[in-house]
Order: sequence, then structure tokens, then C-alpha cells
Amino acid sequence: MTNLLLRNVRPMAGDSCDILIKDGKIAAFGQFAPEPGMPVEDGGNSIVIPGLIDAHTHLDKTTWGMPWHENNRAAVLRERIDFERENRSAIGIDPHRQSMRHAIGLAAHGATHIRSHVDIDPTHGLSIVEGIWETREKLRGIIDIEIVAFPQSGVVVMPGTAELLDEALRQGCEVLGGIDPCGIDRDPKGQLDTIFALAVKHQRPIDIHLHEIGDLGAFTMELIFERIRANGMRGKVAISHAFALGMNDYLRVGKLIDELAALDVAILTTGAPSATVPSVMRLKEAGIRVGGGCDGIRDTWGPWGQPDMLDRAKIIGLKNGLRKDRELEHVLHIVSQGGADVMQIEGYGLQTGCTADLTLLTGETLAHAVVDVAPRPLVIKGGRVTARQGQAVMDMP
Ligand SMILES: [Zn+2]
Repeated sequence: MTNLLLRNVRPMAGDSCDILIKDGKIAAFGQFAPEPGMPVEDGGNSIVIPGLIDAHTHLDKTTWGMPWHENNRAAVLRERIDFERENRSAIGIDPHRQSMRHAIGLAAHGATHIRSHVDIDPTHGLSIVEGIWETREKLRGIIDIEIVAFPQSGVVVMPGTAELLDEALRQGCEVLGGIDPCGIDRDPKGQLDTIFALAVKHQRPIDIHLHEIGDLGAFTMELIFERIRANGMRGKVAISHAFALGMNDYLRVGKLIDELAALDVAILTTGAPSATVPSVMRLKEAGIRVGGGCDGIRDTWGPWGQPDMLDRAKIIGLKNGLRKDRELEHVLHIVSQGGADVMQIEGYGLQTGCTADLTLLTGETLAHAVVDVAPRPLVIKGGRVTARQGQAVMDMP
């Protein structure tokens, strides 16, 4: 029974009102006197939006809070993957402790939900994902964590991985991942047939990393489309990054977007500054579900990133060349409602009856809030305060 009277807030930067929360859900908007014994919070005329969502991150990788990880290595994808797999234990990246730091950081900055890819490979078996499962339990009531069983090192080139994915799905990973079927496995049919068979067997959605650029990535997307049709998985597949959609061929990209719309394939973007990224406004026009994510932050792959979805909204906005207010509002949509659309979260939103997962923002308007990236005055999860002024109620380990 979590009740709360949240006073003096502006839903989606509209007129000021109070929000009455009962049993962890939004009961009513209006002007209310506090009931006896009911906790009260004053929102100070802040904007209130539904909780921010990191719909693409890697909780198992960050070195946050550890000694600085010096990195002067070449930035080739396969080498980054192999270096991490071979060295993560020696570096001291404890999956449970580091995922706690990463997730609490996201909560402190207003996130209420996470979709995290977690590495599964023959070197580590399920030990990494077990650490994240532990984090998920400890953070129940603070932030919801959905886990993607992620074969980062490849499926076909890493014998034993398919069996581990099968076991991870059996034990409770909600989503099945994949990665660059051409670039990493050099066997697109092999990887895609394997992961679609596993997804069908366990009745789970797929969220596949696709860094492949240009025509190679477009080719892989077409192979994915074929398998969505063949397996009846319309609305059950997401493509993360989808760098091929950033290629400089307007008609080819348009054809791919038509297929994404027809098959209701969702896209996750991080606004990666070093890559060709999909145009979020073009995807919006086509009605594609689009969520956003921080991806890896401060890990062996690279030093950049913050556990902050408003910071990420700014990066996505800058990378997409957005400057109109309504475009910035859309970027905020991507890191909130957009993530919920991709993850198909029930009860998410800012209407009566929705779960009271709320984030307060400072600023005159939504666009102003995206540009400012100021500390969030208050974060509420299921009617309970989980963070104030950028500080989570739970300390990082
Ligand atoms: Zn990723």
C-alpha cells in the first residue's frame, strides 16, 4: 500500500496540479488536501513525466567507481569483444557490484526501467548473468531490470554458446540477443536460424545488436525480416543500433523502414557519435517504435557515457541535428515512452491507473529540460521516492 500526495507539479510541462497516488498507482490529478497519515511531497512546480527508461545498456561492463581503466588499444570491434572477454575478471569487473553501481546511477538520474544486455559466452557460462539477476532482486522497488541473454562473442564462432542461451532463457532471461551475424559470426544464416529457433522455443522476443553498416547491414536486416515472417514474430523483434539505417542512400533506407513498419520491428538507438545512426525523426514519421539507451558507460570499450538518460537524450538530439522544440520533445519521448513501447511495459504512462513511476524535471518546457540536463528534483517508483536531487535513496556499493 504505497500512497503519496505529490503536490505542485506540471504533467508534461502543462498546468500545475497535484497527483494523488494510491497503492502505487496514479489515482487522480487535481487539487487535494492530504489525507491523515499520507506522505506528501512538494514538487516545487517541476515538470513531471513518466520514468525515464534505459532500453539499451550493458549493466555487466562498467568500471564505474573502480580505478580508471587506461585504454590505448585499437578500436576494432572484434578486438574490443575479445579483450573484454579475456580480461574482465582480471581487471576486477565484478558483474554484481558493477551492475549495482550502474543501475543505482541510472535510478539517481530518473530512470525507473532498464533493458540490459548481459554477456553469455563459453568462458563465463552464466556467471555474469547470475550477478545481474542478484542485482535485479536487490533493486526491486527502485528500478525494474529486464535482461537480454547476449552472445556478444558470437554464436557460430563460439561453440557452446547456443546451449548457454537456451539455459539462460530457461532460467529467466526475458529477451534473446544476437550480434552482427555477418561481421562477428561470418555466418548470418547460422546465427539467425539459431536465435530465431531459440526465441520460438521459449516464446521470447529478440533484440539484436546490428553494428553492420551500409549494404551489409541492410542485407542482414532483410534476412531478419524473412525470419520474422517465417516464424510469425511480427512485433516481437527489436534491432539495436541499426547503423545501416544511417547510410547515405535515401531510397534504400526508405525501403528498409517500410519493412520495419510492416513487421512492427522496434529500433533502439544510442545516438552513437562515432557511427552512422538512424534518423529518429524519419523513424517517427514512419510510426516505428524507437527507444534509447546509454549502451556501455566507462567500460573497456570506451571511456564515455553517464548513467543518465537525460544526458543520453541530449546526445541523441545533437547527433540527429535536432533543434526545434518539438524535436527535442520527441527525444525526451524516446528515452521515456519510446522505451516502454519497445519493452511493452504494462501500466506505464502518466494517466490515471498507470503505475506511479514518475520523474521530475526542472525547466520551463520539455525542450528546456532536455537541453539543461539538471539534476532531477525527485524520482518516484511505484509511489515511493527513490531519488532526490540526483541522489538515490540507496548508496552505490
Ligand atoms: Zn550494446
